Amino acid sequence: MARMPIICHEQCTGCGVCIAVCAPHILVLRNNIVSFIEEPQECNYCAQCEAVCSTGAILCPYEIVTASTAKYTEHAPNL
Ligand code: SF4
Ligand code: SF4
Repeated sequence: MARMPIICHEQCTGCGVCIAVCAPHILVLRNNIVSFIEEPQECNYCAQCEAVCSTGAILCPYEIVTASTAKYTEHAPNL
């Protein structure tokens, strides 16, 4: 499955704002807490849901990958 946002159920107030901005419509409310539809493959990880959530209840973390020092040294010009 593709990368999916993380939902912190304890922080969700069920306001529905994230549902309104989710273009592929994969978010729904269940028992007044946001959740994914049954087969949420359409998530494009746009992070709009995270951007509009005022309580921090939905997160789209990403990994920062940096070039290793060894690799950088290997390609550094001879001065
Ligand atoms: S915007 Fe945040 S608090 Fe509102 S329903 Fe979505 S996850 Fe829950
Ligand atoms: S990352 Fe984008 S597509 Fe995925 S659930 Fe959030 S708003 Fe919807």
